[in-house]
Formats: sequence, C-alpha cells, structure tokens
Amino acid sequence: MHELSLMIALADMIANDAATRGIGRITEVEIEVGELSGAFPHALREAFPLATHATIIDNASLTIIEVPAMAQCQTCPSQFSPVVQGWQCPTCGKSGCLISGTELGVKSYVGEE
Ligand SMILES: [Zn+2]
Repeated sequence: MHELSLMIALADMIANDAATRGIGRITEVEIEVGELSGAFPHALREAFPLATHATIIDNASLTIIEVPAMAQCQTCPSQFSPVVQGWQCPTCGKSGCLISGTELGVKSYVGEE
C-alpha cells in the first residue's frame, strides 16, 4: 500500500496547488517516477483512481513518465545504467555517481476553472 499513500500525497499536493490558482477540476496529471524511486509505476497507476476518487482530480487522465537510473562516470564522459552495469564505468572502470532515477513527483497537470 506504499504507492497508495504516495499517490494520496501527490493528489493532495495537486489539489492544494490547484486551489491557489482557482482551478476547479483537473483533467490531466503527469507524474515522474524514477527507476530507483522505490515506487512501481503499475502500482501508482492502480492507486490513482482510489487516491483521486471524490476529489477535483477524479477522472483525470494519468501519464506516468518512467525515468531510467543513470550514472555519470566521475573520470570520463561516459554515462551508464547502474542497474544494468553496476557502479563501475564500463569504459574506464572508475566509479560513477547517480544523476537520475530517484525522481518521484508531479511533473505537470492540466486543469479547468
Ligand atoms: Zn569512465
């Protein structure tokens, strides 16, 4: 149920933000989910109708953008997937640091007054 509570928190955030802009109904929501965020996109999709039921987001369309984990080598210009290749650069063998993949949040939404 991790994703349900996450989705409820995201829905709250959108509803609060929409309220400050005078938006009365949300029609589209776009969220970003990193490969290493700890959340599963399919579970978020399932949680969405439950989390948004009877809110101004009810019946909005949901787009989930899955962001792959990427590491940047600290020595050479290579970028690589730490999930597939581990933390050592496949080009030079030095260690890399994470540059994407932990995203979890609302990227954008569309609403009507
Ligand atoms: Zn390298």
